[in-house]
Amino acid sequence: MVVKINENYLKLKSSYLFVEVARREAEFRKANPDADIIKMGIGDVTKPLVPAVIKAFHAAVDEMADAETFMGYGPEQGYDFLAEEIIENEYKTYGIDLDTSEVFISDGAKSDTANIQDIFGIDNKIAVTDPVYTVYVDTNVMAGRTGEMKDDGMYEGLTYLKCNSENDFVPELPSEPVDIIYLCYPNNPTGTTLTKDQLKVFVDYAKENNALILFDAAYVAFINEDDVPHSIYEIEGAKEVAIEFKSFSKTAGFTGTRCAYTVVPKELMGYDSKGNEVEINPLWNRRQTTKFNGVSYPVQKAAEAVYSDEGKKQIGEIIEYYMENAKIIRKSLTDLGLDVYGGVSSPYIWVKTPNDMDSWAFFDLLLNEANVIGTPGSGFGPSGEGYLRLTAFNTLENTKEAMDRISKLEF
Ligand SMILES: *Cc1c(COP(=O)(O)O)cnc(C)c1O
Repeated sequence: MVVKINENYLKLKSSYLFVEVARREAEFRKANPDADIIKMGIGDVTKPLVPAVIKAFHAAVDEMADAETFMGYGPEQGYDFLAEEIIENEYKTYGIDLDTSEVFISDGAKSDTANIQDIFGIDNKIAVTDPVYTVYVDTNVMAGRTGEMKDDGMYEGLTYLKCNSENDFVPELPSEPVDIIYLCYPNNPTGTTLTKDQLKVFVDYAKENNALILFDAAYVAFINEDDVPHSIYEIEGAKEVAIEFKSFSKTAGFTGTRCAYTVVPKELMGYDSKGNEVEINPLWNRRQTTKFNGVSYPVQKAAEAVYSDEGKKQIGEIIEYYMENAKIIRKSLTDLGLDVYGGVSSPYIWVKTPNDMDSWAFFDLLLNEANVIGTPGSGFGPSGEGYLRLTAFNTLENTKEAMDRISKLEF
C-alpha cells in the first residue's frame, strides 16, 4: 500500500508572485540596508479596528467569561442577529429582500469562494477573468476541473475572459459554452468596476444559458460611482443565477479577525445528471453544516457593531482615508503621463507600464529608483502583463512620499 496524493495539486504553479516579490525586496535590502522602502503591493488593510467594533468585541469576550452568558457552538450558518443586520444594511438599502436562511456567515470570502465549487459537478466548464484573483483558478485546478498549465500561462480546460485597456477592462461574454463564471467587482487586481448595464449582460447570459455567476463583492464598500451596483442582486433576475460573496475584511479591517458571508438565494437552481432542477441553497447549507462549525461569537458581535451608527461613521472615515490615498496615486501617475485604471471605486490602482516595459521590469525600476514596491500585473494572469498594481492601504504620508519619488523618475 502507498499513500496516493491528489495529483491535481502537482499541476499548480508555485505561488511565484509574492515569493518573488519578497525575494527581490530582500535582495535590494541587503544591497541597500539604509533604503526606506515603501510597500504599495500589499492587499491588506493597515488601520486598526474602529472603537465601536472593539467595544462590542470586548463585551462579547466578557460574556464568554460568565456561565450565565457563555456561548458554546453557535449555528454553523451564523447568528441571526448578524444575518439580520447584513440584510438590513447591505441588501434592503438597495431594494433587495433576503431571508436569513439565504445568508451564510463564514470566516472568509477566500474560503467561501474556494469551497463553493465543492457542491458543483466536476464536469462544469469554468470561466474566469484574466487577470484574476488566483483563488478561483487554483481551487478548480485542485478539484481536477483543468488540465496542465500551458506555455501561455493558462490552464487547459479553463476559459479566460481577457480584461485590458483595449476593452476598457470589461470582459466579453465567453465565446465557448461555460457553466460557471467567476466575477469580482470592484475588481481585484485591476480596481475597475462594471456598471449595472455591463453586469446585466452577464446575468442575462447566465439566464439564457443556465449558467451560474459566482460574484465576489469584497470591495463594495469602496464604491464611489452611482451606476456601479453594490450587489449583483440589484440586477433583475440575478437571484436565479448568482451566488454572492462579501466580507468584513476590506470593509471594516477584519482581515485578521475573520468574518464574511455568502448569499445563496432560494431561487437558485442547478441540475442533476438527469436534468432535474435541484435547489442550490440546501446543498451549501449541507456543506457548511458538515464541514464548518461557524464563526466565533465575539467575532460575530464585533461584525454586528460594523452596522451601528458609530461603527458606520468610524468605518466610513477609514474608507475615505484610503480613498484619498487612491486619489493621490491616480493624480500623480496620471500627471506623469501614465495610463492609470481603477482607484475610483476601489483601493487598487492598475498602472500601464511606460514604454511597453514588462511588469517585472517596471517593478524593478520602482524598487531600485524610488524604493517603492508594487505588485507585477503578470502575476495575476497573462493579461496582467504590462501592468503593475499599487494599493491605497498605506499611510497618507507614505503614499505622498512614494508619489513624490516616482514623480522624479524619467521613463
Ligand atoms: C481580500 C479579498 C477577499 C476577502 O477575503 P477574506 O477571506 O474575507 O479575507 C475576497 N476576494 C477578493 C478578491 C479579495 O481581494
